[in-house]
Amino acid sequence: MEDILESIRPCLTRGEQQKIVITTHHKPDADALGSSLGLYHYLNGLGKDVTVVSPTDYPEFLHWMPGNQEVVNFEVEPDRASELAMEADIIFCLDFNDLSRINRFGYVVGDSPAVKVMIDHHRDPSGFDDYRYATIHTSSTSELIYDVIAKFGGQEVFNKDMASCLYAGIMSDTGSFRFDSTSSDTHRKVANLIDAGAESAKIHALLLDNFSLDRFKLMGYVLYHKLEVIPEYNTALVHLSREELQQFNVKTGDTEGFVNFGLSIQGVVFSALIIDRTVLVKMSFRSSGQFPCNEFASNHFSGGGHRNAAGGSSNEKLEDVVKRFKRLLPQYATYLQS
Ligand code: 5GP
Ligand code: MN
Repeated sequence: MEDILESIRPCLTRGEQQKIVITTHHKPDADALGSSLGLYHYLNGLGKDVTVVSPTDYPEFLHWMPGNQEVVNFEVEPDRASELAMEADIIFCLDFNDLSRINRFGYVVGDSPAVKVMIDHHRDPSGFDDYRYATIHTSSTSELIYDVIAKFGGQEVFNKDMASCLYAGIMSDTGSFRFDSTSSDTHRKVANLIDAGAESAKIHALLLDNFSLDRFKLMGYVLYHKLEVIPEYNTALVHLSREELQQFNVKTGDTEGFVNFGLSIQGVVFSALIIDRTVLVKMSFRSSGQFPCNEFASNHFSGGGHRNAAGGSSNEKLEDVVKRFKRLLPQYATYLQS
């Protein structure tokens, strides 16, 4: 991995003046946006011409991140985003490993003559990239960006803006430093980020205590009326229709984390959230233990992800997706023991 980074040294150090685009997966979460803006601030400091392009909008509770104003939303400014990508020397692709994850912007990135550098922590990369810095053993893409910046800029280079974005990404993808992927190294890096100006309590509050009242009403409704447990398979399921989304005025990010409710129920080892979005039915899967969410997602719902957190989509009707989901469980009975 170190060698790979060496081959792109000129774009990570002062000197050559390159045009750089950083992009990340659609509906970016805190890790996707935090890693992108963390790298953006570093490259900006080196005097590069750098722009972050998001394929779509993202939740309002991420808008506090320094640099947010400069992010180009492909859906709002498709021509500008496309021009930036076509004229770029380098495109950094962060927190995703398949162009389908950046929606229609994927066609532009695919066609661009720019060198593509993927930095990511998901399984099974599809291979659109020229250079890859990727591992499934790191908590987050923000932690990988920390490593890249520390290697080329040194520990001292982190400033408050970089530190705040990267802290938010690591904190979010580790569930506030509690998931298995959180290593002692993660803690050491996070400690450096705090020393560099990341305000831990403030960032926690900005990410976790910053939701709309509508989201809480929807949460209450989901817990009371929609959370279903299938005891034979230790599985929890929530599904939401378009009418329900409208009823609660759902905005981007409002259902984030809902898939985890099921896993907090005693005995449940697999939890699914199925939502009828504007174009497709989107699914999120979470498991504890051995159940392979990524295989389940890729085998049946054109998706992927990690063993314990994955997602997919379908163009079937919501009711049909739910029925098919339930019919698939017996095949996985051996994994679904609690
Ligand atoms: P979430 O449920 O939070 O949307 O996604 C959880 C994980 O599953 C993420 O790490 C993401 O990479 C992966 N994932 C979610 N949806 C999809 C999808 O449609 N395709 C693929 N390949 N991965 C997905
Ligand atoms: Mn991530």
